[in-house]
Amino acid sequence: MTVLVINSGSSSIKYQLVDPESGDAIAVGLVEQIGESSSHVKHTYQGEKHEYDLVLADHGEGLRFVLNLFEKIGPQLSEAGIKAVGHRVVQGGNHFDGPALVTDEVRDLVEELAPLAPLHNPANLRGIDVARELLDVPHVVVFDTAFFQTLPEEAARYALNREVADKYAVRRYGAHGTSHQFVSQKVAEFTGRDDLKQIVLHLGNGASVSAVVNGEAVDTSMGLTPLEGLVMGTRTGDIDPAVIFHLSRVGGMNVGELDNLFNKQSGLKGLAGENDMRAVWALANGGDKFAREALDIYVHRLVKYIGSYAAVMGGLDTIAFTAGIGENDELLRAEVIERLNSFGIKLDLEANDVRSDDIRQISTDDSSVQVLIVPTNEELAIARQAMDVISR
Ligand code: AMP
Repeated sequence: MTVLVINSGSSSIKYQLVDPESGDAIAVGLVEQIGESSSHVKHTYQGEKHEYDLVLADHGEGLRFVLNLFEKIGPQLSEAGIKAVGHRVVQGGNHFDGPALVTDEVRDLVEELAPLAPLHNPANLRGIDVARELLDVPHVVVFDTAFFQTLPEEAARYALNREVADKYAVRRYGAHGTSHQFVSQKVAEFTGRDDLKQIVLHLGNGASVSAVVNGEAVDTSMGLTPLEGLVMGTRTGDIDPAVIFHLSRVGGMNVGELDNLFNKQSGLKGLAGENDMRAVWALANGGDKFAREALDIYVHRLVKYIGSYAAVMGGLDTIAFTAGIGENDELLRAEVIERLNSFGIKLDLEANDVRSDDIRQISTDDSSVQVLIVPTNEELAIARQAMDVISR
């Protein structure tokens, strides 16, 4: 029994054939540069990587090529017992507080929500449309925002003029919800407790933090879009919105330029010249003072969120690190936790240095808060949610 998980971007299709029970990724692949002069396809099955350069005009051609690879290289989808296709969709607005079976109506709702996620939903929709045409199994959409539909109004509503906010559906929707939900559930399983006040730090190229009480999200750092919150690879995170007015009035920048500046040319890249955390560390270790400063800003922002979320929840039981940086960057974790020592949060330095794919504790046993590393797996979470929907 398997689920094909599809994450369709504006010029890419990422896919994984997942066994939702064992959690194994049976085949993994990526189509890139769709619609460009040459597209690139990578398909990995049984440890062997197969790569192709060819012209793929659109997502339909891309997915057709991938389905051919499943036939030629394997695994054959019918023999792999494909039960559903799970699609990652970024924005579910207030319509979706969980996964949904794709019907024409659901498909149209995803399209209607595009103005709230113009970079993502139209691209996600392309994947849904072509996959529905080519794969005759149930299709399920899993939304990045769904886990955050439980946010209380005081956390979700901005102090923006109510009429304007409501007319244009402006509120905090959050993002990375599939990961925050998966990780917070793992923390509950690992500790054997459902009654936890948790902070989940998803630190990848995009980065977000959530506050979770008894399994429900009560706050999160991403807002109307994934731009708000932590310092990210190329995004500013939190910034005074008046900077936009200033750069428009004084700098003469238009909306497109500002969008690009804030989303693509800022964050670690804008501060240190590199968006990859490993490259930032390499620069900082070589004495680059802007790179060191970028790390300081990154850590400062994290500490600020952890403190404020502990206050919002009225306590804190666990902090979970996840995603590329959270799972692999022991130096950064150490700097963050060291800043929290005055609250009795203590890192076990040896445990922090151990590399592993398993969930593990990195705080000392006498730490006031249990600090954990929890490998995230959004594809598996999507596959399991898809199975839940089709077996309802
Ligand atoms: P993700 O978006 O979850 O794939 O995470 C990507 C980020 O994780 C990039 O900034 C990488 O530099 C970072 N990353 C991956 N491995 C390491 C590592 N060993 N140390 C520090 N950062 C890492």
